[in-house]
Amino acid sequence: MYAEKLSHAYIVAGSSGSALEKARSLAAQMLCSASQNRPCGACRDCVKLAHGTHPDFIIIQRQTDSSGKPRREIYVEQVREIVDSAHILPNEAAKKIYAIKDADAMNVSAQNALLKLLEEPPDFVALLLLCENIDALLETVRSRCAVVRSAGPDELEPDPAAVESALRYLSAAAKGDELALLRLCNELGELTPSQASDFADTALKTVSDMLARRRDALGLNEPALLRISQLLLRAREYLKGNVGVKHVFGLLSVRTIENR
Ligand SMILES: [Zn+2]
Repeated sequence: MYAEKLSHAYIVAGSSGSALEKARSLAAQMLCSASQNRPCGACRDCVKLAHGTHPDFIIIQRQTDSSGKPRREIYVEQVREIVDSAHILPNEAAKKIYAIKDADAMNVSAQNALLKLLEEPPDFVALLLLCENIDALLETVRSRCAVVRSAGPDELEPDPAAVESALRYLSAAAKGDELALLRLCNELGELTPSQASDFADTALKTVSDMLARRRDALGLNEPALLRISQLLLRAREYLKGNVGVKHVFGLLSVRTIENR
């Protein structure tokens, strides 16, 4: 996806586990030594990365205090070590990559210390700033990084309330329970636009899990699931187009009933 042109600095936004996974996949594209179709998954670099033993993929994390708990912040000393070592050539690969976990925990002086490296990194260095809260990074840092999200809307941790509503919607659709559908859509009409989009995303994800048989389909067959997913996609489009939430769910209830 990013193979056309790789930047030297990325903010990898997402929860810590998913951001690390994304960082690894970016690193694989940068470190893979195959001549095409990178990452190949088979070369020495890809294999070492997958085993977590690649010497040119360097993970920096918060230090721990004497009781073994991670410190609240990443301090300037840690960043200075990065800056100093960044000028040393990679061990094995053509590049070396620093992945800073919880980069949003870098305090202001740490971030400032990183700036110079972000501005003029050696050709062989790439920096990945993994963080949940991009806003905790200084504007000067942010503006020098390309931002990638570690997960699309489908992969984000779903909001429990959205999951519950999605299941209520699908089960009412499965039973053809018009009254339950109207009631639910009436309630959903009161959501904020962002909650409403969460509902649509979660319901879509649930439907795709049902289609893939990762979840019980509540008696909905494949054509029915596909029709519902079309309706949800359209609802999501409307929400993106700033159509009122009430209106979108009004339509959704009517269409779901018609579609049976
Ligand atoms: Zn490879």
